[in-house]
Amino acid sequence: MRTLFVFLLLVGAGLPAYSQPAPQGTSAPPSASARVLRAARVIDGTGRVLPRHDVEIRDGRIVALRPSAGPLPAGGIDLGSRTLLPGLIDTHVHLGWYINGRDRLHTDTDGDAPGVSALAHAGNAWATLQAGFTTVQSIGEADNAALRDAINRGLIPGPRVLTSLGSINERTRGGSPDSLRAAVRYFKQLGADVIKIFASQSIRDGGAATMSPAQLEAVCDEATALGLRSVVHAHSADAAQRVARAGCSQVEHGVFADDATLALFAMRGTWFDPQCGLVFRNYLDHQPWFEGIGNYNAAGFSAMERALPLAEAGIGRASRTAGVKLVFGTDAVAGAHGRNAEELVCRVRRGGQSAMDAIVSATSRAAESLNLGREVGRVSPGYAADLIATDGDPSQEIEAALRVSFVMRNGVVYRQQFARGARGSH
Ligand SMILES: [Zn+2]
Repeated sequence: MRTLFVFLLLVGAGLPAYSQPAPQGTSAPPSASARVLRAARVIDGTGRVLPRHDVEIRDGRIVALRPSAGPLPAGGIDLGSRTLLPGLIDTHVHLGWYINGRDRLHTDTDGDAPGVSALAHAGNAWATLQAGFTTVQSIGEADNAALRDAINRGLIPGPRVLTSLGSINERTRGGSPDSLRAAVRYFKQLGADVIKIFASQSIRDGGAATMSPAQLEAVCDEATALGLRSVVHAHSADAAQRVARAGCSQVEHGVFADDATLALFAMRGTWFDPQCGLVFRNYLDHQPWFEGIGNYNAAGFSAMERALPLAEAGIGRASRTAGVKLVFGTDAVAGAHGRNAEELVCRVRRGGQSAMDAIVSATSRAAESLNLGREVGRVSPGYAADLIATDGDPSQEIEAALRVSFVMRNGVVYRQQFARGARGSH
């Protein structure tokens, strides 16, 4: 409630709303509409740490980044000892998944009215934004369009949302290459930002390949021809290798990806988004929410339990394999929204990825994977002012990513949870 109050207060104070980009690389002194953030250190999203820097923002965009000097201009925000970094990016979430009022996973047949579901989706978006995630790719759900569009129109707060509005598998429209191509065109016409494909079984069913090379080539080729990325669920090494060979953009999960598979990803330039443990643990810690729905059964839960050490080791192997474009995605489902940064902690503490590489994978590298590499993911002039601050330095202690006390998106402050004295002049 308190954070919502702060949000309303800030909106009421007439902070800048999103508007057209300002000219890039401006070095003029701060104007009345500009705003300066001052921090003990800036992690720029590409691996650099800049001590004592100011970030100047105008009309929702970063216009300057420079060493701190002199008094903070009026309206500036002094972040004190905090670390300023780009808003985090999660390339795989499910904003439509939620736990209903009966403490069960929401399903299409649970009786929830559309309004109840819509509010739950908005709540997931709010929780995600508050946790410092300012961009997400929400893949698989038909009803994400309304959520994405409501956020983009400024009706409700949330991260910027890219979505597939559905998914394609080996049985879609009968499964012939031509009909699969038609399915891709259908999603494009619906307004999808990306194509989601299932090319293997669920991990709860073993994860074997389900789509033929010809099917995968048809879907990913059609997506590329239409300017869409193709993001593919694949667990087994065989399934993941078919995805890379078919020229699809990104492999999701890849729990059984071995050295040969990773080498193929590197050679083909396939983005790789494995998960470390947040979602497995979310399922295992909250079995009553899911038990008895689909393949959430005793065998399914034990398959996830067995996958945990494999998943953790897989993060380390991928992060040590030269040329693998490892990106950050949690697969956040019901119960995990707003906890996305726990996956960063898992990647570093249990998977062995370096803290800075984990941060880069969730900022500039994730942005590139979404074709947003010139828009978000960096603290640099010309980029959207999607900025967060953490209590502590996550490049030294990754757990600091769990302590987000400031969130700005497109220059609008959505969270500023620290004592007035530390805010600087107003
Ligand atoms: Zn998923």
